[in-house]
Amino acid sequence: MNTAEIAELHKKYVMPTYAPELALLKGAGTKVWDADGNEYLDFLAGIAVLNVGHCHPAVVKAIQEQAAKLMHVSNLYYNEQQPKLAQALVERAGGGKCFFCNSGAEANEGLIKLARLRGSPKGRFEVITMKNSFHGRTLATLTATGQEKVQKGFAPLPEGFVYAEFNDLASCEAAINEKTAAILVEAVQGEGGVVPADPAFLQGLRKLCDEKDILLLCDEVQAGMGRTGHWFSFQKYGVQPDAFSLAKALGNGFPIGAIVAAPKVADIFQPGNHATTFGGTPLACAAALAVIETIEKEHLLENAQTTGALLLEKLQTIAEKYDWIEGTRGCGLMVGLVLKDSATPLQKLLQKKGLLTLATAGNILRMLPPLIVTAEEVEQAAALTAEACKEIDAM
Ligand SMILES: *Cc1c(COP(=O)(O)O)cnc(C)c1O
Repeated sequence: MNTAEIAELHKKYVMPTYAPELALLKGAGTKVWDADGNEYLDFLAGIAVLNVGHCHPAVVKAIQEQAAKLMHVSNLYYNEQQPKLAQALVERAGGGKCFFCNSGAEANEGLIKLARLRGSPKGRFEVITMKNSFHGRTLATLTATGQEKVQKGFAPLPEGFVYAEFNDLASCEAAINEKTAAILVEAVQGEGGVVPADPAFLQGLRKLCDEKDILLLCDEVQAGMGRTGHWFSFQKYGVQPDAFSLAKALGNGFPIGAIVAAPKVADIFQPGNHATTFGGTPLACAAALAVIETIEKEHLLENAQTTGALLLEKLQTIAEKYDWIEGTRGCGLMVGLVLKDSATPLQKLLQKKGLLTLATAGNILRMLPPLIVTAEEVEQAAALTAEACKEIDAM
């Protein structure tokens, strides 16, 4: 089938929750190919999912072998892969225990339940979240998301969410009351437009939470698993949350989410408190274990730092040439080019030139290449961006 045929079938039978243009049929490493045979350099990576690239042989092999052996057993039984993955995550997080689920929203939903269950004896249930945050699309997580556009039309929203200004400690402090159970924050806001937390803000939140005995929860769904050049983005700040969520890159495209909880809250969920049918299947955990091994073996944290810095530097040079570009923001391989107006025309032009990126929060051109990206590919992407900006400037 070609792109037009796939699009026609899709429009007839799939709900129009997205508005795709390309039909992608094949991927390898940093590259994808569409149904009409065009090749693209993928600097979107499934929106920060494909950290070890498309169809990494180690992940493919782990999935194939585990699929032929045992795909699923109920969580009423132990399976060998789940505790191995939990150990791998906990060792990198600095202690605690895991709960496995299937998506980012579900992991955040679990964090919220954990905070409420812990707070319930004292009547504490409120969760403070940040404006311009993104935490998912279930009813609780879209309410946690500090953006009206994702909430519109879904009232009545669940109670117990309070919004504060990101990077404004005083605003968080002012939102705390006797009902506060937790503060939920992204160390680097992704959908909000690639906005890193100020170190003093995150460190201040940690101190505030300790003083008031409320939980500090981090949403690492996008920034975790090496994306920022650290296993988890809060590690860059030297701040340890009480619990955090993972999903996106954990399975490199195989659906899996997780909560990682520090020892102090690791045994709050007891049998009957929380559950999911598909969480932590042998198949999903085998995929995630292969992802962790690959990140380590190929030194991808280091690569995310060096190639991320290079990408930021190259984009900064471009930004300085045009008065319609405000500048750049970034952290590892989460990089944004901040425009004054909509980033969509630039994103579309880049797509035409064979570079996949994302327009975010209106005016941000966001790049999230796989962590296996090479310096040459970064140069290539920067050259395409320079070319596209020049054309847009001449329009
Ligand atoms: C993508 C994302 C989510 C939601 O994850 P889903 O798997 O789509 O439910 C939550 N938080 C952040 C920071 C994200 O980037």
